[in-house]
Amino acid sequence: MSKDRLLDIRKNNCNPMTMKVTYYKKPVFINQGYMQWLWDVDGRRYLDLFAGVATVSVGHCNPRVTETAEKQLRRLWHTTAIYVYPQMQEYAEKLACLLPDPLKVVYFTNSGSEANDLAVLMARLYTGNFDVITLRGSYHGGSPQATGLTSNADYKYPIPSSMGCHNTMCPDVFRGLWGGSHCRDSPVQTIRECSCSPGHCQANDMYIRELKEMFATTVPNRIAAFFAEPIQGVGGAVQFPKNYLKDTYQLVREKGGICIADEVQTGFGRTGSHFWGFQGHNVLPDMVTMAKGIANGFPMGAVVTTAEIARSFGKGVHFNTFGGNPLACAVASSVLDVKDKMQENSTEVGTYMMTELAKLRDKYEIIGDVRGKGLQIGVEMVKDKTFRIKPPMCITKDDADFFLAVFTQAVQNYMERR
Ligand code: PMP
Repeated sequence: MSKDRLLDIRKNNCNPMTMKVTYYKKPVFINQGYMQWLWDVDGRRYLDLFAGVATVSVGHCNPRVTETAEKQLRRLWHTTAIYVYPQMQEYAEKLACLLPDPLKVVYFTNSGSEANDLAVLMARLYTGNFDVITLRGSYHGGSPQATGLTSNADYKYPIPSSMGCHNTMCPDVFRGLWGGSHCRDSPVQTIRECSCSPGHCQANDMYIRELKEMFATTVPNRIAAFFAEPIQGVGGAVQFPKNYLKDTYQLVREKGGICIADEVQTGFGRTGSHFWGFQGHNVLPDMVTMAKGIANGFPMGAVVTTAEIARSFGKGVHFNTFGGNPLACAVASSVLDVKDKMQENSTEVGTYMMTELAKLRDKYEIIGDVRGKGLQIGVEMVKDKTFRIKPPMCITKDDADFFLAVFTQAVQNYMERR
């Protein structure tokens, strides 16, 4: 189909844009991919540094994963979890092995939003409480419940969607505080305005204080769950002070709530040094939600929790037609078979990229800071947005050099034009 025809369809609003997107000159029409590369309808090749929002974990059309999917397509697509089939049982066990005790009970969904919805439901059933606390700047999904959890202003509808959801301050080792700062008052956020040295703002007290105030006022004895991404993804690769999650988890548990790690972006080796983002914080959540990288772009999500919490969820009420379908489970299982090298690569190429980007930060004042871990990287363009880098984890050092050269040139051009 021609590009004009594709554009017509969009202009006719048959398939409208549902979010703000800025293209450089013209829309890009992608119709093919292989590992870290994408091709448009004209055959032009692109290095993919976004992986469909940190989703294509082990590369577009990864040959081993594709082969598994093809085999499964010929064997069985769907039955529902009413039946026992090997792909789901085997994958559940394989996934559970990757989580520490007592996180051993797996429920399947089709997306991150669904996983978070299910987690809220289970937390409420288990605790008998209703309120949920999330962090400012967070993104937890687009379903009616998940938009309530989400606090990121770019993704809020102008309707009340957040019954029982409360947001607390998001600490940030780089900027002090999302949407303000203990280091400065200006809403313009650059690391150079912070009195702490880059990446070392470990002040925890005021965030814990705000949380305590919430418990004393807004959510006394009613908390069901505290939700946090171990590194904020959509929020802009925001990292927390060393003990923040540890202290917060303790406080939430004292108040009767459970702690949920949203690993939709940070899971499956993306942060390099750990398979799960929460492992970098020295905490053990009561529940972990995941999606995106789990099946390399095939729609899938999961919630993993403890046997005790699972028991309160009971039997016989919850049903999800597609959750844990044989195709998704076969693909996800194959992703785990190729993941090891990718996780190492996340550390190696991610660290290299961050080191080189930090040099650019020191040279060009429009780069406020460079943050993240592994291949979950944020480059803050001062007074504007965060440039997010989360490529397929098979990206090479040569690819990183190519990106760095293009990015440097773009920054240079911008500086000259000002
Ligand atoms: N949690 C996080 C941290 C996410 O980044 C996203 C998606 N960007 C979601 C949940 C929602 O996932 P999905 O789009 O698959 O519903």
